[in-house]
Amino acid sequence: MARVLVIEDNPSNLTLATFLLESVGHSVLSARDAEDGLTVAHGERPDLVLMDIQLPGMDGLEATSLLKHDDVTRDIPVIALTALAMKGDEERIRAAGCDDYIAKPWNYRAFLAAVAGQLDRAREGRPPPPANP
Ligand code: MN
Repeated sequence: MARVLVIEDNPSNLTLATFLLESVGHSVLSARDAEDGLTVAHGERPDLVLMDIQLPGMDGLEATSLLKHDDVTRDIPVIALTALAMKGDEERIRAAGCDDYIAKPWNYRAFLAAVAGQLDRAREGRPPPPANP
């Protein structure tokens, strides 16, 4: 399955996201703020990042923009975790480089469908493995 980095400052949300991801076989890396999350993303190159938008200090939109401007991390899909639901927020989220978003409170099926969708998309975008000799 996949390695997923969850950047989320709310312990309950982090616990829930970890539970949902592990329930379908993914392994989870976590960070509590954007700076730590960027360090883990750069060092571990996870298959997917789930990015809380409201974080202490640097917010998730700025962190996503940095990930998408770094050659090491730019191809990693980012799903925003957001309580924002107002008109215009989706545009801001997309403009920052997020590939998708999941609005809180999470619908578990929608959460896992968004995760699977981005992992599938990333897999399809990857060059095929080398042919066996
Ligand atoms: Mn938060």
